[in-house]
Amino acid sequence: MSLNHFETDAIRIQTERSQFLEHSTPLYLTSSYLFEDAEDMRASFADEKQRNIYSRYSNPNSTEFIDKICKMEGAESGYAFASGMSAVFSTFAALLNSGDHIVSSRSIFGSTQTLCKNILPKWNISTSYFKINKIDLIESLIQPNTKFIHAESPTNPTVDILDLERLGQIAKKHHVLLIIDNCFATPYLQQPITFGADLVIHSATKLIDGQGRVLGGVTVGKADLIKQIYLFSGNTGPALSPFNAWVLSKSLETLAVRVDRHCENALNVAEFLERQPKVKFVKYPFLKSNPQYALAKKQMKAGGNVVAFEIEGGIEAGRNFLNAIKLLSLSANLGDTRTIVTHPASTTHAKVSEEERADAGITPGLVRISVGLEHIEDIINDINQALK
Ligand SMILES: *Cc1c(COP(=O)(O)O)cnc(C)c1O
Repeated sequence: MSLNHFETDAIRIQTERSQFLEHSTPLYLTSSYLFEDAEDMRASFADEKQRNIYSRYSNPNSTEFIDKICKMEGAESGYAFASGMSAVFSTFAALLNSGDHIVSSRSIFGSTQTLCKNILPKWNISTSYFKINKIDLIESLIQPNTKFIHAESPTNPTVDILDLERLGQIAKKHHVLLIIDNCFATPYLQQPITFGADLVIHSATKLIDGQGRVLGGVTVGKADLIKQIYLFSGNTGPALSPFNAWVLSKSLETLAVRVDRHCENALNVAEFLERQPKVKFVKYPFLKSNPQYALAKKQMKAGGNVVAFEIEGGIEAGRNFLNAIKLLSLSANLGDTRTIVTHPASTTHAKVSEEERADAGITPGLVRISVGLEHIEDIINDINQALK
């Protein structure tokens, strides 16, 4: 493995050049690959050779993307998916058997919640949840049939931090796997494997693409687990398309510089919001006033691009704020170059009860901002005029 820095590997890890000696990796739009002869074909199908057979299993563009993410996360191996959710589903489905049990954080992405609550029970797989401020209770939730602990940090939309090292210790003590969805941090800010995670999942749709263009997902980690995920996925078909892999691998070349600016802008927005009288509280991992600041600093390089704040006046004030926004976008995505504002209580979390929302820290006036790469003064001016 190379000892290059993160930024260098993000640019220099590259698929072998073709006879044309192209400088930048070309797009390999092909569904299948040729064999030299019958013996080559036999050995390839017998898994005796590592080579491309069919793009449902592997493709030079997705392999390049996976190789970069593995290097960034310190992982042995990986598989790339058509979306973050196909990564989550296929990872879970490959590892779980009927009758198994999951211990998951309450504060997880909406579709992952739906997967655990409504879909996995079809196969007699159950989930117990822990509150993010009570991770020591995880030990009491673990059963003989528990396969893994699953969590996200920072969380969506409240940007809370979970102690990854503590999660790693609990998983190890009880001989269960630890799976971390590292989407909000990206491998540039946080590498869960160094804290004991066995597998790391990303929705590449967010900061990894970073420009709101394509969907993608990836799971990386221990080789024996990835082998199971590869066999499951190769046969069931959630593979990332070569085109999206090509886009995402190019995106990784600029991940460090983009995320640096995202974090700088987000910290500026958080500090600005803290000074506003109409703002009851601001949550951002790297705000000095944040009670989790020390923990965030221990496990993250910077605070990420998402800021949450509570606006005085509840649900109506949240909706009014969104209606007054002029430059920034109202959109469901995050981690885009374009700053995006959402109001979870009236949108993504409108269907859950007020009690469940309170459990997840989603107060009525909570606004989530995915801070983009526009000029910081323009971002703050728009937020400022909307607050007024
Ligand atoms: C968006 C997201 C996902 C799902 O990813 P898609 O690419 O939209 O399928 C999973 N986990 C987290 C934390 C996310 O933010």
